[in-house]
Amino acid sequence: MRTVLITGGAGFIGSHLCKLFIQEGNRVICVDNLLTGSQQNVAPLFENKNFVFQKCDVSESIQVDEPVHYVLHFASPASPVDYQRYPIQTLKVGSLGTHNALGLAKVKKAVFLLASTSEVYGDPLVHPQPESYWGNVNPIGPRGVYDEAKRFAEAMVLAYRRTHGLDVKIARIFNTFGPFMRRNDGRAIPNFITQALSHKPLTVFGNGLQTRSFCYIDDLIQGLHKLLYSNCNEPVNLGNPEEMTLLELAKSVIELANSKSEIEFHELPTDDPRVRQPDIGRARSELGWELKVDVRTGLQKTIRYFRETFRTAK
Ligand code: UDP
Repeated sequence: MRTVLITGGAGFIGSHLCKLFIQEGNRVICVDNLLTGSQQNVAPLFENKNFVFQKCDVSESIQVDEPVHYVLHFASPASPVDYQRYPIQTLKVGSLGTHNALGLAKVKKAVFLLASTSEVYGDPLVHPQPESYWGNVNPIGPRGVYDEAKRFAEAMVLAYRRTHGLDVKIARIFNTFGPFMRRNDGRAIPNFITQALSHKPLTVFGNGLQTRSFCYIDDLIQGLHKLLYSNCNEPVNLGNPEEMTLLELAKSVIELANSKSEIEFHELPTDDPRVRQPDIGRARSELGWELKVDVRTGLQKTIRYFRETFRTAK
């Protein structure tokens, strides 16, 4: 049996990973300080004897007294609202947390996977974004705390590879959505769905012509799984190349949720990237990764999940 340690394992993506690795018969150590994650996300796993939950802040230290074969570092506030609410924690988990997670992987001789982000490209001047693009990031703007923490994390991961020969993987994750996102994490999709289900106006920031490319969680998890077991030590973009404007997204959510909501325009946040679309050529060729879920189907599944949890939340 292999042991997989997942930092941020009680978060949106982390909890999906915990479920997958348990299903596959591994032992899973889920480490989370529950700053933005929730034990509810992994509640069904507590019955499984191969699942261990450790409440701990990985920016302080990570203590594990057993063999670990894979370290997946997913701990971090990840929505713009969250990382601007917790700027120092975000910088610490990307820097000190990454250092601690790498230190653990080194002593355990484990494979290490970093959850990096499309935010390393900032407000990109190259479109779509290939991994070779170095990005256009404002280091001192409100998003800098997340962008620079992740850029530092990538540099640290590759320093461990060059210095200690650690087997490392770096996933640059683009906008992802699906069940187990927090309703109030402030991101566009949970905001729009929550607003549409209560027939309140959808809050579109700016003129809504900025673009994003949204990937359904199941596809992302497959990509991460393939990357972990691959020989690819360079950063790999994981995301859906299907690009759309935020206005198009808002209209689709209203239609698919059968909602009476209207659209309301609000001020565009500082440094909000104008465009974002992954070039996934590397993931296709190196991992053989192909997307299976289009945005509309993903939205239907997510709306269903939010509808169900909406009822129980009332
Ligand atoms: N956005 C919006 N309304 C909202 C929340 C977000 O129009 O209620 C916009 C936001 O300005 C950005 C896009 O949606 O252009 C995606 O934002 P999100 O917070 O989901 O993630 P980001 O891609 O910015 O990290």
